[in-house]
Amino acid sequence: MKENQDNKMDKIVSLCKRRGFVFQGSEIYGGLSGVFDYGPNGVELLNNLKKAWWKASVYEKENYFGIDSGMFKHPRVWDASGHTSGFSDPLAECRECNTRIRVDKELERVGVTADEKMSEAEINQLFDSARDKIACPKCGQKNFTPAKAFNLLVKSNLGDFTSEGSDPVYLPGEACQGIYLNYKNIVDSMSPKLPFGVVQIGKAFRNEISPRNFLFRTREMEQADTQLFVKPNENKAAYEQLKQDRWNWYLSIGIKEENLKWKQHENLVFYASDAWDIMYNFPTLGFDELEGVHDRTNYDLTQHMEFSGVDLRYTEGETGEKYVPWILETSVGLGRMFLAVISDAYHEEEMNGETRVVLKLHKDLAPYRVAVSPLLKNKPELVTKAREVFVMLKKEFGNVAWDDNGNVGKRYRRQDEIGTPYCVVIDFDTLGQENPDTKDTVTVRHRDTGEQERVSLVDLVKFLT
Ligand code: ATP
Repeated sequence: MKENQDNKMDKIVSLCKRRGFVFQGSEIYGGLSGVFDYGPNGVELLNNLKKAWWKASVYEKENYFGIDSGMFKHPRVWDASGHTSGFSDPLAECRECNTRIRVDKELERVGVTADEKMSEAEINQLFDSARDKIACPKCGQKNFTPAKAFNLLVKSNLGDFTSEGSDPVYLPGEACQGIYLNYKNIVDSMSPKLPFGVVQIGKAFRNEISPRNFLFRTREMEQADTQLFVKPNENKAAYEQLKQDRWNWYLSIGIKEENLKWKQHENLVFYASDAWDIMYNFPTLGFDELEGVHDRTNYDLTQHMEFSGVDLRYTEGETGEKYVPWILETSVGLGRMFLAVISDAYHEEEMNGETRVVLKLHKDLAPYRVAVSPLLKNKPELVTKAREVFVMLKKEFGNVAWDDNGNVGKRYRRQDEIGTPYCVVIDFDTLGQENPDTKDTVTVRHRDTGEQERVSLVDLVKFLT
């Protein structure tokens, strides 16, 4: 059966709650908009995504280093990065019911090319010409205020004991600043030769005007960033390679190529040399930004050099030549990645005359590698043997589920929804009471095909690996 695209997002949100992947933040208090909590199965998938990303971004590369910087940063950092003055989205308010909209996104929705980097005057000109097409999502009226730039940085009162501090310490608006701030430390401690990369997974916070579409637009998020430092003007080939690597990575974790496409930025920020986004075909939204791959020239280090007064130039070992390296960046939100992976894996299909929901997740991403169950939970001899197998597999893989709830059919349905690639069932044949030939063999059921085969216990670990 083909999934109904119109309500696929609702189905995914409901599956995520039902099966312990993702919950609304602070749900028992009515929820906190734009914040989500990962549940027991969600955190496994999230951690597996991080591991896969780290492996591809550090271990499989040469001259790439990981860091983990503090979230809070000196207030001047966000002046240098341009966030205090320019990190804003155009906001308009419905005059009837006070609902706020993000004008650039609403314009795009009605087919007008716009983006958040446009000046207030530019965006208002476009807004005025399209006002008859944009209705308030809450009350349906078309009576909005003009668009105003709304800064997305989230303030904290860290270290401010008077409530009158003039230099607020912000929560990070983007995680990558921690990499720029540690660039000199990395050069001094690791002595890398250019080109070299620094990667980090870190939290970021944005006062998004209208957080929506589940994990797609949240106010608290995690970003996985790579910053590749290259010699000035030696950016082109490295940039193409980085783009290719990131595209291939999505394919390697099982994303279908037809659900990905590239989009080049039309309106480049003044310092950028080139910028492309990897777009994913999200349910309900259609193709939208999943990851940015940007050629940022020497802007970031030049800014920090100017604002901090510290020399951030790289010195060539042999010639002594000094220059500010250029930066090629990849940046993706883990929540968007999670949503893309779950959407891609989500299938509704007929099996044995019933409709099943199955998450066809890559084996290395699935919350559990395998589920173990005794055929019947009221037969102690089956349960004892099944526990033995469970303990053996747990030692090997760690992420092994014990499932003895309901009948075997129900367990398969449940594990299908969680995306467990294999179910191992210990039955009477395993005990070999009737037929000694089947002793110490188990049934292994494959998630994607529903096929079952017998595998001997001595081969089981190898089989599942
Ligand atoms: P958008 O135009 O969708 O607001 P952006 O261009 O501002 O995104 P960047 O600042 O380039 O995004 O951030 C890098 C990545 O971080 C994005 O490609 C996306 O995956 C993720 N991201 C950005 N904002 C959010 C958010 N509010 N919620 C979840 N992920 C986000």
